[in-house]
Amino acid sequence: MVITRFPPSPTGHLHLGGARTALFNWLFSKHNKGKFILRFEDTDKERSKPEYVESVKASLKWLGLNWDEGPYFQSERIKIYHQYAQKLFEEGKAYYCECPKEVLEQKKKEMLAKGLKPKYDKICREKKLEPKPGRALRIKAPELGEIVFEDLLRGKIVFSAEEIDDFIIIRSDGMPTYNFAVVIDDITMSITHIIRGDDHISNTPKQILIYKALEINPPKFVHIPMVLGPDGTRLSKRHGAKSILEYKEAGFLPNALINYLARLGWGYGDQEYFTIEELIEKFDLKNINLSPARFDQDKLLAFNAYWMRNSSSKYLLNHVKPFLKNYDLNKFSEDYILSAIETVKIRTKTLIEMAEMMNFYLTEDIIYDIDGAKKFLLPEIAPILGKIAQDLKELPLEEKILENYLRTLAETSGMKFKNIAQAIRVALTGKTVSPGLFEIIKVLGKEKTVERIKKAIEYIKGL
Ligand code: GLU
Repeated sequence: MVITRFPPSPTGHLHLGGARTALFNWLFSKHNKGKFILRFEDTDKERSKPEYVESVKASLKWLGLNWDEGPYFQSERIKIYHQYAQKLFEEGKAYYCECPKEVLEQKKKEMLAKGLKPKYDKICREKKLEPKPGRALRIKAPELGEIVFEDLLRGKIVFSAEEIDDFIIIRSDGMPTYNFAVVIDDITMSITHIIRGDDHISNTPKQILIYKALEINPPKFVHIPMVLGPDGTRLSKRHGAKSILEYKEAGFLPNALINYLARLGWGYGDQEYFTIEELIEKFDLKNINLSPARFDQDKLLAFNAYWMRNSSSKYLLNHVKPFLKNYDLNKFSEDYILSAIETVKIRTKTLIEMAEMMNFYLTEDIIYDIDGAKKFLLPEIAPILGKIAQDLKELPLEEKILENYLRTLAETSGMKFKNIAQAIRVALTGKTVSPGLFEIIKVLGKEKTVERIKKAIEYIKGL
C-alpha cells in the first residue's frame, strides 16, 4: 500500500509551493488507493505556532486535501525518537558529545575562514561518554566511500561520505534534529514514498545514514523542483504569490487552485484543465517535470475564470456564500439563486466579482448608476416603460418572444432598441453592464421585473 505524507513546519501559513507538495503526495496516494498522512514538524519551539497549525489545516481542508491519518505532532513524539536514539547508542552507532557550543562555533568559524566546509572534528567519538543532560548525541558517519540513493525522478544520486560529518541526532536539550525526527517518523508511519522539494536533496544522505544505522530500508524518494517566480528566483511574496487562505479570501475556487497547482510542474499531454477526479486518475510521477515551473499570476486567474464558467452552479453557490454575507439568502429559493448564478458565472473571474454582480438579484434596493440613469432613464422613455410593464403581464418569459416584442416596440415607437433595452437594464439592475437582459428577466420573474420597471418610471417622473 502506498503511504505518503505532508510534514509542514507550523512556522507560517501554507503557501503555493507547500500546497503543491501536499497535492502531489495526496494525488499519488489517491491514485494508488493508498493513504495520506499529515504531521507537523513542530520541534522548533520558538517558531512553531498553534495558529499556523490551524491555518495549514484550514488551507488543506479548503483545498479538499483531506488526510487519512493524523495530524501527528513531532513535539508529542519525543519519547519515540529517544527510543530509537537509545538503540543507536547501545549498538555503538551513536555517541554522546560534550563539546561546548561556543567551542564548536569557534571551530566552525575557523574552518569557514580557511574556505573549508565546516565539519565536526570527532573529538568525542572515542570518549565513550555516558548520556548526561547537556550532551548531544551524534551519529557515527562513515569516513570513506559513497552514500547513494535512488530518486524516482532523477535516478541515482551519489554523495561522497567525506561531505557528511558525525551530525547531531539528539540536541543537548533533548530535542531531535530534523533529519532524525523525519526518519523515525517516516519509519514508524510506514511511509512508502517521500515526495518533497529538491531543496531537501542535500538532507537525504544524512537520512540514508540513519536508515542504514537502523538497518531499515528507506522509502522511495521523489524530489520535485521548486516553484519559481516569473524572474526565475524561488517563489515568494515578492512575486505577488499569496498564501492559500489569501487566495480563498480573494475569491478563488479551490478546484481552480488545485488544477493550477497540478499543472505547476506536472503535465498530461497538452491537456490544461482537469477536474480533481481526472487528476486522481491521471496523476503519475513520471509526468512530473524536471525543470522548475514558474508561477504566473495571470494564468492562475485565467484558470479561476475557467472554473467559474465550468463548475456547477451548486458548487459555485457553496463557495460564493461567504461573499454574500450581507444578504439574507433564506429569503430566496435555492433554485432562484442557482439560476442567478447561472447567468453571472460566465461573466466573472472571481467569487468576489460574482457576488458583486449578483447584488441586484438579492436586493430590492436597486441603486442606479448615476451616468447610466442620466443617459437612459429619460422622460421620453417613461411611457414606453409603462407599456412594457403592462404588456409583460401577458407575455411568456421566452428570450425570442421578448426580443421580438421589444424590437417591434422600438419600430412602432421610433425609439432605438438599444436605448429601450438599456433603460430596462438600468431599471432591473441599476447598471449598464449585466448578464443578458432576457436571462435576467427570466430569473427575476414577472412580478419583480414589472415592479422595478414601475419604480424606474416613478424615478423619471420625480426628476
Ligand atoms: N518540514 C519539512 C519542510 O517543511 C519537511 C521536509 C520533508 O518532507 O522531509 O520542508
